[in-house]
Amino acid sequence: MEDCLFCKIIEGKIPSDKVYEDDDVLAFRDINPQAPVHVLIIPKRHISGADKLERSDDALLGKLVAVANRLAAELGVSGTGYRLISNIGDDAGQSVHHLHIHLIGGKRLNWDN
Ligand code: AMP
Repeated sequence: MEDCLFCKIIEGKIPSDKVYEDDDVLAFRDINPQAPVHVLIIPKRHISGADKLERSDDALLGKLVAVANRLAAELGVSGTGYRLISNIGDDAGQSVHHLHIHLIGGKRLNWDN
């Protein structure tokens, strides 16, 4: 989608530190990491957020989570624990309107609010 930052990353127009890619999914390190491991897992098809997923996307969502879990193991945090988050809308702090799952780990995480 035009003017979507993550679509530009998918198209290679903006560089990213990729950690995984297949036909449907791309994962890359967050540019502003909140923990030693902070990766974004995104679908290659533009979906503006998790609230826009449809029943026909069930398999895609399952794949995004499966990739996140696999990366957690590869990046060494599956034993210590990690968080999978998808922010939706302003109050949650969603800043990029292309569905993404944050994989965050490698330190003890707080739950402030
Ligand atoms: P959210 O605030 O949940 O929408 O998450 C968007 C995330 O994208 C933030 O954690 C940003 O640090 C991250 N981000 C923004 N631009 C880039 C970029 N060019 N490469 C990697 N991560 C980015």
